[in-house]
Amino acid sequence: MYYSNGNYEAFARPRKPKGAENKTAWFVGSGLAALAGAAFLIRDGQISGNKINILEQHQLPGGALDGIKEPNKGFVIRGGREMEEHFECLWDLYRSIPSLEIEDASVLDEFYWLDKDDPNSSLQRATVNRGEDAQTDGLFTLGEQAQKEIVKLFLATGQEMENKRINEIFGKEFLSSNFWLYWRTMFAFEEWHSALEMKRYLHRFIHQIRGMPDFSTLKFTKYNQYESLVLPLVKWLMDHGVMFHYGTEVTDVDFNIAPGRKQATRIHWIRDGVDLGPDDLVFMTIGSLTENSDNGDHHTPANLNIGPAPAWDLWRRIAAKDPAFGHPDVFGSHIPETKWESATVTTLDARIPRYIQKIAKRDPFSGKVVTGGIVTAKDSSWLLSWTVNRQPHFK
Ligand SMILES: Cc1cc2nc3c(=O)[nH]c(=O)nc-3n(C[C@H](O)[C@H](O)[C@H](O)COP(=O)(O)OP(=O)(O)OC[C@H]3O[C@@H](n4cnc5c(N)ncnc54)[C@H](O)[C@@H]3O)c2cc1C
Repeated sequence: MYYSNGNYEAFARPRKPKGAENKTAWFVGSGLAALAGAAFLIRDGQISGNKINILEQHQLPGGALDGIKEPNKGFVIRGGREMEEHFECLWDLYRSIPSLEIEDASVLDEFYWLDKDDPNSSLQRATVNRGEDAQTDGLFTLGEQAQKEIVKLFLATGQEMENKRINEIFGKEFLSSNFWLYWRTMFAFEEWHSALEMKRYLHRFIHQIRGMPDFSTLKFTKYNQYESLVLPLVKWLMDHGVMFHYGTEVTDVDFNIAPGRKQATRIHWIRDGVDLGPDDLVFMTIGSLTENSDNGDHHTPANLNIGPAPAWDLWRRIAAKDPAFGHPDVFGSHIPETKWESATVTTLDARIPRYIQKIAKRDPFSGKVVTGGIVTAKDSSWLLSWTVNRQPHFK
């Protein structure tokens, strides 16, 4: 899709790129980025699926978009996605991917119809005193100084915000406002996080501001995103001949680096490796957000694993070869300040649902939207937030 002025160019099909039939593609990682990249190569780049290889360290595709029934543990997901209308690439992709749920519908149709019938919104965004309404009442409580600071961040250049923390830009008034409470819990920000990242979010999600108090601008999939998004896409890719290589950890990629051109010459992976030529495309979509995550359970806390991490190790090795490959340690060397914890409740004590119903103001077992996004315990020292998705969350 090429979305320029209006939709004139968006729906025209691209011509087959010159030399497409000679290309082979290698994706490192099988998260959404790789799956989407492979699908766009097939649909728009007109490369045949059986020339596309996806190398994944784990035994499953999907990366951060997970959802699984683990023996002895039950149903586990590390997180869920808030989604919205302006996921331009995602919706363009999923209009071409058949639904696994509804015959003759695409995943986009399925998602759109679900949201039409059962639009998302939250009836209680924040609580205090273990479940009472925190009475944030949809108000941002931003005084003049705080408003000025937001405008200043919005209008600053990216360069001006580089290497600055949010609490260097915003004062006390802003940091004690409802706006900041809504923002930081919705987008997972802390006061010491990057001001530049916050600026980017302000630009990217400006249309979300009106929905911040009740999430009426968000949308959620029917089930967890592994089942609702990853499985239909993987099926489509496999039907097109794409080859998935699981249990394959990529350790390094060699390059010939010349001014204006970097050509990958060899991928090294544990077990073996493959030599590459000028017609081989290499896409390293190695994520990082859930790398080194660990699962705990009722009796065992999750470990903070700061040991070797294939995604970070690979990125560091490649970054050492050319500055254009980025600076992994800007992100990867602040573990105590960036770590986070999530829990999935798989079975509830029968006494609990009525409390959920009191807070959500909806029947948790109706099959429809329940909390409509996170509910934040405003008086929790780490702003614990919880959510109940449409049930069942696992197909
Ligand atoms: C808890 C949570 C909440 C989120 N909330 C939202 C949200 O509300 N809205 C939203 O839009 N986004 C959200 N995101 C972000 C979104 O999920 C990610 O941006 C997206 O899924 C990343 O996809 P990816 O393919 O780039 O990376 P990943 O999904 O991380 O996939 C990378 C893959 O590469 C593999 N890999 C890494 N290194 C190697 C190697 N060396 N060799 C072989 N394989 C390797 C990994 O095993 C993994 O499968 C959230 C993420 C999390 C974790």
